[in-house]
Amino acid sequence: MCKYVAVMVDLPVEQVDKPFTYKVPDRLKKDVEIGRRVIVPFGRRKIEGYIIDIVEEVDFDTKDVINIFTSFQFFNQELLDLAKWISEYYQCYLISALKAIVPSGKNKIKTKRVIKLAQSIAQSKEIINEMNGRAYKQIEVLSYLVENPNLLLTSTELAQKVDTTPSTIRALVDKGFILYQVEEVRRNPCSHLNFKTTKALSPTEDQQIAIKEISNSLAEEESSTILLKGVTGSGKTEVYLQAIAKVLEAGKETIVLVPEISLTPQTISRFKGRFGNQVAVLHSQLSTGERFDEWRRIKECNVKIVVGARSAVFAPFNNLGLIIIDEEHESSYKQDDHPKYHAREVAIKRAELSDAVVLLGTATPSLESYHRTQIGEYKLIELPKRVDDRPLPEVEIIDLREELKSGNKTMFSELLQEELKDRLAKGEQSMIFLNRRGFSTFVQCRECGHVMECNDCDVSLTYHANPTILQCHYCDYKEDVPNTCPNCGSIYIKYFGVGTQKVEESLKELYPEATIARMDVDTTRRKGAYQQILSSFKQGEIDILVGTQMIAKGHDFANVTLVGVITADTALNLPDFRAGERTFQLLTQVAGRTGRGDKEGKVIIQSYTPEHYSIQLAQEHDYKSFYQLEIGTREIALYPPFTHLINITMSNEDEDKVIKVSNQLGEILSAEMNKIDGEDIMLLGPVQAPLAKVRGQYRWQLLLKGKDLSQLRLLTSQALTELKDLSTLKSVRVSVDVDPLGM
Ligand code: ADP
Ligand code: ZN
Ligand code: ZN
Repeated sequence: MCKYVAVMVDLPVEQVDKPFTYKVPDRLKKDVEIGRRVIVPFGRRKIEGYIIDIVEEVDFDTKDVINIFTSFQFFNQELLDLAKWISEYYQCYLISALKAIVPSGKNKIKTKRVIKLAQSIAQSKEIINEMNGRAYKQIEVLSYLVENPNLLLTSTELAQKVDTTPSTIRALVDKGFILYQVEEVRRNPCSHLNFKTTKALSPTEDQQIAIKEISNSLAEEESSTILLKGVTGSGKTEVYLQAIAKVLEAGKETIVLVPEISLTPQTISRFKGRFGNQVAVLHSQLSTGERFDEWRRIKECNVKIVVGARSAVFAPFNNLGLIIIDEEHESSYKQDDHPKYHAREVAIKRAELSDAVVLLGTATPSLESYHRTQIGEYKLIELPKRVDDRPLPEVEIIDLREELKSGNKTMFSELLQEELKDRLAKGEQSMIFLNRRGFSTFVQCRECGHVMECNDCDVSLTYHANPTILQCHYCDYKEDVPNTCPNCGSIYIKYFGVGTQKVEESLKELYPEATIARMDVDTTRRKGAYQQILSSFKQGEIDILVGTQMIAKGHDFANVTLVGVITADTALNLPDFRAGERTFQLLTQVAGRTGRGDKEGKVIIQSYTPEHYSIQLAQEHDYKSFYQLEIGTREIALYPPFTHLINITMSNEDEDKVIKVSNQLGEILSAEMNKIDGEDIMLLGPVQAPLAKVRGQYRWQLLLKGKDLSQLRLLTSQALTELKDLSTLKSVRVSVDVDPLGM
């Protein structure tokens, strides 16, 4: 009997985005399994791929599989189905989706050339004694190995550990005291961390109810989604932990997703502290090898829980019971490279395929998720109070227009200055938050707060310096930058963009005696810098921490009693229909950093538009009213969750080419829309993308908007096929983003 396999080859190009069939020679028949990596002939080349189907009979000629790698099944049928769904939903190549699932990098199992003592420990000690006084660095190296005989360190690592150069190591090798040895190593990304073991806390009444409801859903053994909406500090993590315990009891596995930025040792230790070695960790800061070893621990059923960032949603469990997504509203769950998937949607699909439960946790649900609770798709569970009945922090809003009028031209209001002084005197800590998300700048009147907006799109206009112009990034409306405010006539109309560095400098001038630190992309580039700033803040070595989004997330610092927001408006005026939602979420999260200990917390939000409902309702911690207002706007303006969007971006170093192709595609899309019953579909653009130029590549975009996503997808793929036939400008890169975020 013959055997054939369908193989997806590892070449992400249009022409090969389909399986190719190969015959399995007898010698390899026993190794055939879905998800195995193979080498197959392809044209004149040999190339790698994955088995995605097994067929007994075909009626055409095929070539033979060259080899099958037997060490791993990289994905099972369930993950294969998930990949197929991703490639269809997000319009990407199946091989790209598969590659998002399998661990990246080659030469998987790594051995390393480590340094070992060439003699017994006792003998080594003698050698050390004999060397006494001389070559003390060599003695240090030997002593280190005597004390840590089981560590597997390369000569470079060893040299680093004892703070010496590789030449010291070489000298010892030459003397024959140590030797190189090749060993297989299992890297453990948490080896440097210590975990305090914790027991289940006795749950509060609300937590109790939540845990009960989640258990009920788990017991049903069919897929469902629960939204756990709990205010900051309400003890969501304890609910997760106790839910995981239930899953363990049932002999099943759990995936916990947290935003990349929250994946701190503090977060990891909360899970490791409760479940110890049953926990694996997966995130992008791990080296390829560390990630692969954690993947193997999961694959080999050595762990039951994975805590990780976005891509951990693909952890290769076979008996999944629960997927938890903490801070489900976070935009980092959306991958910005192909495949541009959203981990929440993938999790829900995966749960469906494996009859698991999805638990979404947040203080500020995304509009999409909360909407789904309202239409009965998700179950809603609430934790309305902080643990121990700690009050939510008092939030005060400062009108910066008034500050200007009373002559304060600094970026700190009188009140913020006073409160900072007060905290310094009391030895309490403060956080100053500056939103610098995105790249766009907007134009605002400092006297009346008026922001220049597009009349048609309900988003702010983006300031361009060269040539000076205001532009709408949805519909391409353009106007000149006004010299005076169209609302009040003031000349204090200017474009915005203050940096964290400026804030830090000004604070140092105001409070020379204080210890001030800054946390943003610049200060955290070095590996470990982020952790270092956080831990010295936690230990009280920093009085005031200035930062971007990075300081807003999940941290639990008991001694922080003041949070200041420099200008709430910067998030509000991004050219994005989600700007109001982002602002509400950010302000709520930032405010949530304070008052978490025994002392009460205070939040000061500065704004030029304090009357905006996102700011007002964040002040009152009133998510529901915010939701009501925002969802109404979305419905009228036909934005998600009432519609779907597909964003198509064209890019090339030659802007004329990009514009030409964009126009071509725009015309094709319009024509297609006329053919089908496309009146529910809207086409916006082509326009310059908000990120108009990246690494020398000019970018233009087209935006499709409509109620029926499958219709939008079909339209897109048809139009792109047509474009390929027409286009002589093949070098222009076309990228499709389904359900885009942060546009
Ligand atoms: P959230 O994630 O909702 O912001 P956390 O999970 O960080 O809240 O919990 C806030 C604090 O309350 C943490 O220090 C946590 O240890 C504590 N906590 C949570 N549940 C309980 C409980 N049942 N009893 C006592 N303390 C609790
Ligand atoms: Zn004005
Ligand atoms: Zn517009």
